[in-house]
Amino acid sequence: TLILGIETSCDETSAAVVRGGTELLSNVISSQMDVHRKFGGVVPEVASRRHVERITIIVQKALEEAGVGRNELDAVAVTQGPGLVGALLIGVSAAKALAFSLGKPLVPVHHIAGHIYANHLIKPLSFPLVALVVSGGHTELIYMKGHNQFERLGKTRDDAAGEAFDKVARLMKLPYPGGPQIDRLALEGKPSYPLPRAWLESDSLDFSFSGLKSAVLNLVHNANQRKEEIHYADLAASFQDAVLDVLVEKAMLAVKKTGVNQLLLAGGVSANSGLRVRLSKRCKEEKIDLRIPPLELCTDNAAMIAAAGTYQFLDGHYADLTLNADANLPLIG
Ligand code: ATP
Ligand code: MG
Ligand code: FE
Repeated sequence: TLILGIETSCDETSAAVVRGGTELLSNVISSQMDVHRKFGGVVPEVASRRHVERITIIVQKALEEAGVGRNELDAVAVTQGPGLVGALLIGVSAAKALAFSLGKPLVPVHHIAGHIYANHLIKPLSFPLVALVVSGGHTELIYMKGHNQFERLGKTRDDAAGEAFDKVARLMKLPYPGGPQIDRLALEGKPSYPLPRAWLESDSLDFSFSGLKSAVLNLVHNANQRKEEIHYADLAASFQDAVLDVLVEKAMLAVKKTGVNQLLLAGGVSANSGLRVRLSKRCKEEKIDLRIPPLELCTDNAAMIAAAGTYQFLDGHYADLTLNADANLPLIG
């Protein structure tokens, strides 16, 4: 199977060609990071306009780099949601137009399924497995017993992990996006500030990060009032340590509870160097087969959408031309 994937859910315009669900032939990503940085976050209208400007050329480039003619494609897969509705619409419209003109199936893909399938591009998934999804909008533990079969074991009750990173970074006056900045700063500091970990009920696989975010806010506020100096590298290290403690322990608990042998890391926060190191160490100790995407497949890209789309296509999950973008599309129906 030759699948073209299209992803425009947030601030990356991306198109990719994947063969057989695993073989990455091209993955063109046009990031809008520089455009949004001066606003301190993604501005939806600006993102949509930029997607419109870029999408045609990015699709063209993905086909060229793959050395694939559009008539050779088996289907066009596109992120239907979740994400910014205006941004999603650009990808959905482009995919519809292409699928219609080629007479090929249009395959809708859930963005988080994509993040999970990024791992499949490195080595085929082996089921059953647990995926720890940590991104800008999601923090979830997902159980899969086969392709396209998603069960939710737990999720965040408030902020997503990436959102917490970005908000705390903003508090520390670091530029957008904050996750990579905190990651970098944390390497230079020690986790010396005491910050809370939200374990919730014992045995719970849910998460909560808003208390931690408030604790950092209070700490900064109090220090400012008392005119005390804050050691920002130590604060970054302390915050990251608190997030990772919970992520790693809950992921290990999910693996134990379900008795699986494979753990996947997925989503933008998978790029975090501390998380990669700590999870690798724990999984080595516990003899769990851990998969972590390479950095370029951690954040938003169309290759992961093409990979996930391949199995939707093989299952015959096609959409017709009435397909609409869905900002709140659920992974589990
Ligand atoms: P979702 O996938 O939930 O729809 P999204 O697509 O906006 O949200 P991603 O692009 O998957 O999110 O990931 C972006 C998030 O990852 C941001 O919150 C960013 O700060 C975070 N992130 C990226 N790199 C790192 C890092 N090295 N350490 C921590 N967080 C990181
Ligand atoms: Mg992004
Ligand atoms: Fe994402």
